[in-house]
Amino acid sequence: MLCSKCQKAESAYHRAYSGEYLCKKCFMRSMEDKAAKTISKYSMIGYSDRVAVGVSGGKDSLSLLYVLKILFEQHPNNGNELIAITIDEGIKGYRDESLQIVKDFCAQLGVESRVLSYKFLFGVDMDEAMVLRPSEKKMSSCSMCGTFRRRAIDIAAETVDANVIATAHNMDDQLQTFMINLLAGDVERIGWIYPEPVQYASGMKKIKPFIEIYEYEIAFYALQREIPFQSEECPYMNESIRTDLREFFNRLEKDHPGIKHNAYNSMMKISKTLHSAPSTEGRKCSVCGRDSTGDVCSVCKNVRVLTSNKQI
Ligand SMILES: [Zn+2]
Ligand SMILES: [Zn+2]
Repeated sequence: MLCSKCQKAESAYHRAYSGEYLCKKCFMRSMEDKAAKTISKYSMIGYSDRVAVGVSGGKDSLSLLYVLKILFEQHPNNGNELIAITIDEGIKGYRDESLQIVKDFCAQLGVESRVLSYKFLFGVDMDEAMVLRPSEKKMSSCSMCGTFRRRAIDIAAETVDANVIATAHNMDDQLQTFMINLLAGDVERIGWIYPEPVQYASGMKKIKPFIEIYEYEIAFYALQREIPFQSEECPYMNESIRTDLREFFNRLEKDHPGIKHNAYNSMMKISKTLHSAPSTEGRKCSVCGRDSTGDVCSVCKNVRVLTSNKQI
């Protein structure tokens, strides 16, 4: 089968939802074009923006770094800069491997990289937190780690003087998040999904250039580009609903190609009508001084609970 785009090379990928057969080159270009289109559709990156990419060492974030590197090189006059930021949660055996992968890959790309650890920022790492977390309180490892990671990425981006934070959330991630919020009755959070870049008081913009791309296409892209990535899953992962939803959507997509696209478009319409930035009404955390919805922010609350257990 010949590539439906260039009609020259042998097809390497069948895009079931569009009916296209793509050769390796046309597939890779289609992915880069798609990301560029999403970026311009939502005005994600402007002239002279310094973009910090949250890089975990997985296929999505390393691919995002690679794609942004290519796009920035194609438009040198835009004056954009790229820097990789990696958060070391302190998970023995798991994080060490990915730190090395990120370090080597950034060196290969010629992209500056920076690592910041939970231990340094919060005085406690994930291995310790798993022991210290009180069993009677509902502290799921993923939600606790997510709270820490978002804060750590914010601080890391500020440290490297970036004004944009790019994360590699893909369409599947967004669909799962939507469904989780829907099933939990958390309608406000559905409004947060809409990708209009939220400019925070600090001037930091948060963007997700891969939200219109299927997860398995990113995986295929990483393989075609020979991007080395960590495939091992976090040993503390416990988000069973997310995993269930992931499999559910993939099963549907297999029998009904394009259904994820349709669901995504519906989700975006709903999210847009509910769209609002997380509101803090100018309130600051009394411990760390950052924007907070309550008197003490969720990061400081978690740290307080964990360290109080430490002293006993
Ligand atoms: Zn082709
Ligand atoms: Zn705080």
